[in-house]
Amino acid sequence: MATQQGRHFLQIPGPSPVPDRILRAMDMPVIDHRSAEFARLGHEVLEGSKAVFKTTQPVIIFPASGTGAWEAAIVNTLSPGDTVLMAETGHFATLWRNIATRWGVNVEFLPGDWRRGADPAAIEARLVEDRAHKITAVMVVHNETSTGSTSRIAEIRQAIDNAGHPALFMVDTISSLASVDYRHDEWQVDVTVSGSQKGLMLPPGISFNAVSEKALAASKTNTMPRSYWDWQEMLKPNAGGFFPYTPATNLLYGLKEAVAMLREEGLDNVFARHKRLAAATRKAVEAWGLEVLCQNPAEYSPVLTAVLMPPSHDADHYRKVTLEKFNISLGSGLGKVAGKVFRIGHLGECNELTLIGALSGVEMGLAAAGVPHRSGGVQAAMAALEGNVEANAPKVAVT
Ligand SMILES: *Cc1c(COP(=O)(O)O)cnc(C)c1O
Repeated sequence: MATQQGRHFLQIPGPSPVPDRILRAMDMPVIDHRSAEFARLGHEVLEGSKAVFKTTQPVIIFPASGTGAWEAAIVNTLSPGDTVLMAETGHFATLWRNIATRWGVNVEFLPGDWRRGADPAAIEARLVEDRAHKITAVMVVHNETSTGSTSRIAEIRQAIDNAGHPALFMVDTISSLASVDYRHDEWQVDVTVSGSQKGLMLPPGISFNAVSEKALAASKTNTMPRSYWDWQEMLKPNAGGFFPYTPATNLLYGLKEAVAMLREEGLDNVFARHKRLAAATRKAVEAWGLEVLCQNPAEYSPVLTAVLMPPSHDADHYRKVTLEKFNISLGSGLGKVAGKVFRIGHLGECNELTLIGALSGVEMGLAAAGVPHRSGGVQAAMAALEGNVEANAPKVAVT
């Protein structure tokens, strides 16, 4: 097998590349998690991560992938037989629905075509219809990582309020937190689910539930069984900076560093950088003559761009050729769009030159795999990053 030189380009929409600063911060001896030294770290990350969620309420950290935090949100608030409203935005919304279903929850799944976010008007209409308030929760994925579409969380909050409906509001921000503007308290979200390995730039292994007073109240009366995920069991030792079982200590060192990095850059600058890189990526896709999967410009993802393959070209073959020739990993199509799309991640530790390098790999890969396209995508992305609109206009031959 041929060896590959240089840095691997991990351009999937999570796990995202871990910055050297975070790798170094984690390169520490494991300490006693019942010690005073640990309690300082515990306090610091439990308090420090609140700013990233824009909350003053508790943030619970589980040693688990995002899927664990999905399950925690369900088992701490719902009861078997409850009805919840979800929106079919893509593969991740479908997986979250499947977990709820396995726990005996009756999920009403608003159908979607995987090319846009959840529809606030459809949610409002369904809640207005539910005069008996049978629906106990509205559950939405903020950034649908399988399609590159975001849902408008502030508008969905407004839709719930317009309907005067008391349902809990639960949002999956696993791939949007620290990449896309998100406000747990202001948008009165009851449970925000998140993970470490996307916008937070950490390795996989920890995940989060940010919880509201209303969610905590629900957790005191719901009847779903749980043990490992129980919020109350977590919150008691968390008050002293501790965890009920062995935490992922070294990932917490990394989290402390990630929060510091986000604070230094400023969350608004982080969000603006993601939007700028995403816009440049879409310029490249347009120049290649390919199509972005998301069809609503108001819902384009700042985190990743999913690109449709021309008919009869297999996205997985293209990704394989691109990986072998240029040492770049691109995201695969998931679920219904398997083989039909590839995804370019531009999140976390990503800047202009990382993006241009990645897009070069994508463009050379298109040529290498014989995928019909026009060249000039990288040029268009560069022009977008330079803020040079003129250069984005269709080229006229120079004579
Ligand atoms: C990655 C992701 C998940 C799953 O998280 P794991 O850490 O793989 O369990 C869930 N939802 C969204 C939106 C994601 O991007």
